[in-house]
Amino acid sequence: MKVIEPHIHMIARTTQDYERMARMHTVACCEPAFWAGYDRTSPEAFYDYFVHISEFEPTRAAQYMIQHYCWICINPKEADDLVLSREVISFIPEFLKKSTVLGLGEIGLNLNTKNEMTIFEEQVELALEYGQLIWIHTPHLKDKLKGTRMMVEYLAGHGGVDPEKVTFDHCEEHTLKMVRDAGFWAAMTIYPVTKNSPARVVDALEIYGIDHLMVDASGDWGPSDPGTIHDAIFEMKKRGHREEDVETVFYNNPCFFLGQCEKFQLQPLQDRKKAWNGR
Ligand SMILES: [Zn+2]
Repeated sequence: MKVIEPHIHMIARTTQDYERMARMHTVACCEPAFWAGYDRTSPEAFYDYFVHISEFEPTRAAQYMIQHYCWICINPKEADDLVLSREVISFIPEFLKKSTVLGLGEIGLNLNTKNEMTIFEEQVELALEYGQLIWIHTPHLKDKLKGTRMMVEYLAGHGGVDPEKVTFDHCEEHTLKMVRDAGFWAAMTIYPVTKNSPARVVDALEIYGIDHLMVDASGDWGPSDPGTIHDAIFEMKKRGHREEDVETVFYNNPCFFLGQCEKFQLQPLQDRKKAWNGR
């Protein structure tokens, strides 16, 4: 079975993680632009980071036969500074032309501030202007419900946003339904210590169904593990789910969403209707 990792920060990981992922049948991974572990002091620092994730990581991944894609944006954790954010936004279009860049992401909210929301809205407009997919970061637990609601309501009321082209990431049980009921894609991230566990993710897909849903392992600067996606696959199989449904969650669904960008090269193994059992 082939696996796609829809959200991972490989800049924070060792080459040995690529090797482990390859051994666990990961054939592609996607790296959204995010915080670097420290606040950057100039727009140039973002520029260099964008070069790293769009040029260097694909070459590192290719050694393990993994396709590496990325998303470009000013991340929500550093978006409270409007001047810096707008300087970064000014050179994003240059990166959208690159062959491994899938769209704008992970844009969103961190502490749900007014400035963060302004920069979120400006980056949504940029995505629409350039016909790009959108990958959204939802805040940490304390602010997650409110922040998710703010963004769902904004995008649903916008009028020009196609919800099929938007994924809300880091969904949990209390935000998943709201996101999918509004027609958007949802992704759930598994952490080894806090937040979603493999069992909770499988509980959620049993309750809500497997359409419009993706699962990510965690891979960043904190306690996290790219192997957790494979723990969720094992959990789903242990509970007796059909092989085709496991494949849909971990391979076909990312192909359905990401494949809306013509640069994404992998093909789903089933059509959407069949994979989602008619939904
Ligand atoms: Zn992230």
